[in-house]
Amino acid sequence: MVLLDLRNAFGEVQHNLIRSSLRYHHVPESIIRVFNSIYSDFGVTVSSGGLLTDKILVKRGVLQGDPCSPLLFNLCFNSLMRLLESPEYKQMGYFWGRQEHQQCSWLQYADDALIMANSLSAAQCLVKLFEAGCNWAKLDIRLDKCLSFGAVLSGGKFQQILPNIGLHFKYLGRIFDFKSLNSEPKKEFQSKLEKILAKISSLKVRSQTKLKIFSRYVPSQFSFELKIYNFTDAFLSGVVDRMCTMSIKEWLEFPHSSCVTEWASTPINYCGLGIPTFAQRAARMKLTKRHLLQKSKNQEIRELWAASKGSNIQVDSLLDNRDQKKAGAFLRSQQAKESTDHFLSLPAQGIMARTVKDAVLPKNIQLWKQALDSLSTYDHNFARKAMMSQLPTLHNLKIWNCSSTNQCPRCGEDQTNKHVLSNCGSRDALVRYTDRHNHILEIIAKWIVPQLKPNQTLYCDLSVPGARSVCDLFNGVRPDLAIVSPVKIVVGELTICHETNLIKSRDYKLHKYSNIEASRSSEFCRRPVKVHTIEVSTLGFVVAEPDFFKSAGLSLFDHRIIKELATTALSLSKSIYHNR
Ligand SMILES: [Zn+2]
Repeated sequence: MVLLDLRNAFGEVQHNLIRSSLRYHHVPESIIRVFNSIYSDFGVTVSSGGLLTDKILVKRGVLQGDPCSPLLFNLCFNSLMRLLESPEYKQMGYFWGRQEHQQCSWLQYADDALIMANSLSAAQCLVKLFEAGCNWAKLDIRLDKCLSFGAVLSGGKFQQILPNIGLHFKYLGRIFDFKSLNSEPKKEFQSKLEKILAKISSLKVRSQTKLKIFSRYVPSQFSFELKIYNFTDAFLSGVVDRMCTMSIKEWLEFPHSSCVTEWASTPINYCGLGIPTFAQRAARMKLTKRHLLQKSKNQEIRELWAASKGSNIQVDSLLDNRDQKKAGAFLRSQQAKESTDHFLSLPAQGIMARTVKDAVLPKNIQLWKQALDSLSTYDHNFARKAMMSQLPTLHNLKIWNCSSTNQCPRCGEDQTNKHVLSNCGSRDALVRYTDRHNHILEIIAKWIVPQLKPNQTLYCDLSVPGARSVCDLFNGVRPDLAIVSPVKIVVGELTICHETNLIKSRDYKLHKYSNIEASRSSEFCRRPVKVHTIEVSTLGFVVAEPDFFKSAGLSLFDHRIIKELATTALSLSKSIYHNR
């Protein structure tokens, strides 16, 4: 194997050589005239100290930045390439496949040349040919930048035998090493990622913005590496994704013990961050690469695909009977499912997400995430931690060995996340829960009032401008909201509950009011009552029965109010948490 380097190849190629190459390839005379009009009598003048030099005629080099330049250069090299394709030279090459024509003695990419010979003497012969070609074309070989080595196949793997190089070399930007352990690219990957993550950490921006930079910018910096190297899953998951996880934990101020990787790669609809891991991104890129090889117009590339099937069985199977788009979608959903299954199966961290995904519309989960993104770092991190049961409650502190007790100082029960945010029986806590409930109710009532039709009246368990007291409507029971029209009463009962109780609360309330018609005050005793519920969770997820809006003749909750309910619930729960 010989890698050859030319000194300033694009800058040295002779214009006369280009002209004769154009003729050799039967390029029409009119095109050659275009070439001549650009390159003949082409000169530069240098200005210095207010004086101009005489015109210097430029007879060599192609124009930098001109899209034609590589083409002109390739044309000059093509005559040499054509010679190499003749059988006598081709037979000196290396067999890369089982078939007779799968032999190659030369790789050329613009000015980058690589000789692959099947013996030392054949290599010598090809190098001589290259040297002669360069002499003739007046191109200079840079000996200090050329390198050569020999290898033999032993035990099914190529081993280096002639140690003319170190452990690795670079060709077309890719690092090759003999053991193919990719140890050098791995090192470079790691240190590059380390620098980028440290840079993001040091930015004075909110944690949500850091996550955004991480998910949008960072992958773009590694697409080349992920595309050309076959990194092992052990490296991508065990090293790269771990580094990322550590940073995400740091930005969100999560405790070290929390399980973040799968959560981060879980889709937003399932309360995850929706940021694929590097292992997942690499698998997606591999799929694209295999597809491109398989469907290439070039027969040799397709043969390369066939020859490399053995180590790609899994990814190739995705492309069986599926086009690339479908295979990509299939892979992505498979990856999302893996992450989600893992995250939701976490006993403590996944418990809230499990009920949220069952009870809350995906659209409302997206809106919740948007509401979160508008908060300060502190509030955002509070919500993220609370959602994963990772707040330093006494229950957690005891598990983390940071507290001797897990008992709530107010009531003596196990101080879990749920206990603090919605279950503490102490008088102070109950007052705060009621206050939170009423704040949310007020927002909803104020949103309803302007929508009422002339024959509708809002009755509310709270004093709100434009609404009457619900005590005038029922005797003994006080649902939160009721929209009364001449023909019916539509009750909306609001509960602020813990995420894990979203479904239970609804069932409880429906049962509680199942017999509400019996309590109608005499004035309304002929109007049928329909009961619907609205739940807003302690961290701001909104569940509202569409039938409530429909039977009351209201429009559905819009984006603005869903986000407002989310941020209000969150900020009130945060203050409840601080007064625990
Ligand atoms: Zn308590």
